[in-house]
Amino acid sequence: MLTDFPIQAILDRLVVRIVDVLPVSAAGVTLVAPGVSLRYVAASDQSALRFEQLQVEIGEGPCLAAARGGVAVLVPDLRADTRFPRFAARALEAGLLAVFTFPLRHGGERLGALDLYRDAPGSLDPGAMTAAQTLADVAAAYLLNAQARDDLREASDRARQSALHDPLTGLPSRTLLVDRLDDAVLRGRRSGKSVAILYVDLDGFKTVNDTYGHHVGDELLVAMAQRMRALLRPGDTLARLSGDEFVVLCEDLDDRAQVEAVAGRVASALAESFRLSGVEVRVSASVGVAFAGRGADIPTQLLRNADSAMYEAKRLGGGRHRVFDLGEDALAERRVALGRDLGGAQGRQELRADYQPIVATADRKVIGAEVLLRWEHPDRGWVKPEVAVPLAERSGLITEIGRWILERACRDRQHWRSNGYQTDLSLAVNVSAVQLMAPDFAAVVAEVLADTGTDPATVTLEVTEGVFVAESERALAVLKALKRVGVRLALDDFGTGYSSLGYLKHFPFDTLKIDREFVAGLGKDVASGVIVDAVVGLAHGLSMTVVAEGVETAQQYYEVLSRGCDASQGFYFASPMSAADLGLMLSTRNEPMGLALPRAGTG
Ligand code: C2E
Ligand code: CA
Ligand code: CA
Repeated sequence: MLTDFPIQAILDRLVVRIVDVLPVSAAGVTLVAPGVSLRYVAASDQSALRFEQLQVEIGEGPCLAAARGGVAVLVPDLRADTRFPRFAARALEAGLLAVFTFPLRHGGERLGALDLYRDAPGSLDPGAMTAAQTLADVAAAYLLNAQARDDLREASDRARQSALHDPLTGLPSRTLLVDRLDDAVLRGRRSGKSVAILYVDLDGFKTVNDTYGHHVGDELLVAMAQRMRALLRPGDTLARLSGDEFVVLCEDLDDRAQVEAVAGRVASALAESFRLSGVEVRVSASVGVAFAGRGADIPTQLLRNADSAMYEAKRLGGGRHRVFDLGEDALAERRVALGRDLGGAQGRQELRADYQPIVATADRKVIGAEVLLRWEHPDRGWVKPEVAVPLAERSGLITEIGRWILERACRDRQHWRSNGYQTDLSLAVNVSAVQLMAPDFAAVVAEVLADTGTDPATVTLEVTEGVFVAESERALAVLKALKRVGVRLALDDFGTGYSSLGYLKHFPFDTLKIDREFVAGLGKDVASGVIVDAVVGLAHGLSMTVVAEGVETAQQYYEVLSRGCDASQGFYFASPMSAADLGLMLSTRNEPMGLALPRAGTG
C-alpha cells in the first residue's frame, strides 16, 4: 500500500488483495469511527458491498459488533447464529453462510472492521485469522496516517486561501493580485489588448477613523468594496492592498478611453454618501492609472506606476485621477536601457536557471523538469522571461543566453545525479524563434550535449508555433537537423498561435504542450474540454505525447488525467524552483507531487 494513497484507494486495494491471499469468497470494510470524517466503504465485489451496506442500514451485524467491541467476531455458520437475527435473515437469503470480522484498531482507537465473507460454512484456520487481523491492524495504521494527512492538507488549503484574500472585505490580497496581473499582462501580449491598473486611495480615511471610530472605518471599507465591485466588468479584478488602498485590474481594453471611463465611474460611485451605523459619511478618492505598454513592462512596475500616479492625484488635492504617462520616447528609452543591462547580466551573475517539475499524469511522479530563465535586475528586481527573451532576441544576445541555459541545465542535472537521483530525468529547454533560426543552432546544441556528456534523447527542446510563420521551410530544415542530433522536440503553447494542423503532420514533433489557457478552462467552459480532447486524440493519433501545462487545481488535475494527457506541469504539483531545491527534492524522495485526487465514491 502506498502511503500517499487517499483513504478510499487504501481500502479498495486491501479488500481485493485479501480475497487473493485468504480462503474467502469476498471481503469488505466499513469505517464507523466518529474521528474519521466520512463513512468509507470498500468491497471486493457487489455481494460484499451489499452486506456492508446492509449492516450500516439496519445498524446490526458482525462488522459493527467487531468495530465497537474491538475484538474479532466469528460466525462460522450463519444458520446457527442467534446474535444478529435481522442481518442473518437477509444475508442467508443472498447466499452468505459464514462471516469473520476483525476490528480496525490502533492504540485505543476503533475505526471500523474488516469483514471476510464465505459462501460455505466452516471456521477459518488460525493462520488465516492471524493474517486477517494483522492486515486489519496495518490498514488501521495507514488510515490514521491518511486521515492526519488529509486534515493537515485541509488546514493548509484554508491557510492558503486566507493568505490570498483580505478577511475584512473578502477581496483578493496583494499576492493574488500580482499573480493575476502577471497572467493578464501575458494574455494582453498575446491578444494585443491592453491591461491597466487603477490605484484607488481614499482621501481623508484617517479622519473617518478618528472621528467615528475604527468600526465605522471598517464598515466604510466594506461598503466601498461593494460599490466598486458593482461597477466592474466580469473578468476585472478588485483587490485590497492595505488600509484604504484598493486596486482595480482591467483587462481586454482597446484604448485608454475605456479605463478613463472606469476611473470616472469609481469617482461617481464614491461621490454618493455612505450610510454607516447611524452616521452619514462623505468621501472622495485619489486614483492613479497605469497602462501596460508594449514590450518592456514588468507587472510589478505597472503597480508602482499606478501608485505614483495616485500620489500625483493626491498632491493635486485629491478627488481626481491621474494617468501615469511615460510617453513613447521614454518607453523606448527604458527598453533600450533594459536591453543594455541584459548585456552584462550573465557576467554579473544576475541570470539563473529555475526548474519546474513535470510529472507523469497517472502517478504524479517527477519524470522531467522544464528549465526557466530568471533575471534579477539590480534595480528592478525580477524581470519576467517574457520581457527578457524578446530583449535578448532584439540584441542578438539570445544565442549566448540560450547556449548558457542549455549548458547550465545539463550540468545541474549531472549534479542531481551525483547527489543520488538515479532515474533519468528529462530536461525541457525553451528555444526562441530567433535562437532556433540562428546559423548553426543544431551544431551548437550537439556541441553542448557532447561537452556535458548528455544523452540527447533526454533533452526536449520546446518551440512555439511562431517559428513557422516567417520561414517555415528553413524551420523545418533546422528541426530535422535537431532530430539527427537526437534531441526530442515539443510544440509549446499549443493552441494559442496559428495552430495550423499542417505543421503537426510535416514537422517532427514528439510532444505537444497544451497551453494553460485551455487547462484553465477545463471544468469551466465546454469549449476547453472539447479542444483538449481533440488535441489529445490528434497527438496520440500522430504518436506524440501530450503535456498539460498550468495545472493549478485538483479539478484541473482530474480533468487532464481523465482526458489522457500523458504528463502534467503546474503549480498544483510544484512551482518553478532553484536547481538546489529540485536537487534536494529528488535526492530525498521520489514521491507523487501535489495532492491525491479528491476521494471518489465516498461521502
Ligand atoms: P512557457 O514555456 O509556457 O513556460 C511555462 C510558464 O508557465 C512559466 O513562466 C511558469 O512559471 C508558468 N507556470 C507554470 N505552472 C503554472 C501554473 O500552474 N499556472 C500559471 N499561471 N503559470 C504557470 P515563466 O517562467 O515566467 O516563463 C514564461 C515564458 O518565458 C515561458 O513560457 C517561455 O516561453 C519563456 N521562457 C522561459 N525561460 C526561457 C528560456 O530559457 N529561453 C527562452 N527562449 N524562453 C524562455
Ligand atoms: Ca515551455
Ligand atoms: Ca508553454
